[in-house]
Amino acid sequence: SDHSLTYPKCPKSMDWGTLFPAFVRKEQTASDTSTEEQENRRAQNNGAGSDVDGVAGMTKHVEVADIGCGYGGLLFALSAKTPETLILGLEIRTSVTEFVQEKIKALRSQNQGTGLYQNISCIRANTMKFLPNFFPARSLSKIFLCFPDPHFKARKHKARIVSGTLCSEYAYVMRPGGVVYTITDVQDLHEWMVGHFAEHPGFERVSEEETEADECVAIMKGETEEGKKVERNGGKKFVALFRRAEDPPWP
Ligand code: SAM
Repeated sequence: SDHSLTYPKCPKSMDWGTLFPAFVRKEQTASDTSTEEQENRRAQNNGAGSDVDGVAGMTKHVEVADIGCGYGGLLFALSAKTPETLILGLEIRTSVTEFVQEKIKALRSQNQGTGLYQNISCIRANTMKFLPNFFPARSLSKIFLCFPDPHFKARKHKARIVSGTLCSEYAYVMRPGGVVYTITDVQDLHEWMVGHFAEHPGFERVSEEETEADECVAIMKGETEEGKKVERNGGKKFVALFRRAEDPPWP
């Protein structure tokens, strides 16, 4: 159950500094500075660095989200590929979230001084609720939906992490040009996800050539725990990518 979950009021009230201490602006730490002070500093910084609306005090903001990250295979593989990109895993199960958090802590400490694994973090959240409270509008360049729970029965379809409403939330937190990556071994779920994203005005499907050439697709197929399991069992992997469209001009 997710009754015990708490959600930030808005991205500004997230303690990003605790999740990514190596990316806190030198002159301050998020935990010893009030929100008001952080906002003042941000105003003084006048947009310098990579502040996006709603994320102050950091040299970078989260750009990649792994929704339902499980044991974090994708996070750990992506970490080394893009060490300067902040990647956040979101997972609903407490013990699994703790496992990923502990592993990150251990890897950071084993690799002290190298900067490795500083760019990944994991929080417990039900991503079907309040995603825009975590991420500012247009802040993410990639969202991964890897092997989401299929919820086979029709009456359970509402628990699927892709729906018309959730596509709108994904579109809101993504920057135009950003990409949603989906992979599943369940054909029915694949068709469901393709249907919802294709129908949504905020997304267009990425071509097959581009999909095959994208190195994140190989990582998603080969490095996720589920991807490895499907491989062992000789199952099929259905992949579909969707690009966040440009916003239409204001009338
Ligand atoms: N993405 C991982 C992989 O590919 O190996 C894990 C896939 S596993 C089948 C699905 C994961 O999504 C589980 O760890 C589950 O706890 C998590 N999950 C399901 N619904 C969720 C939700 N609403 N919010 C966050 N995580 C969720």
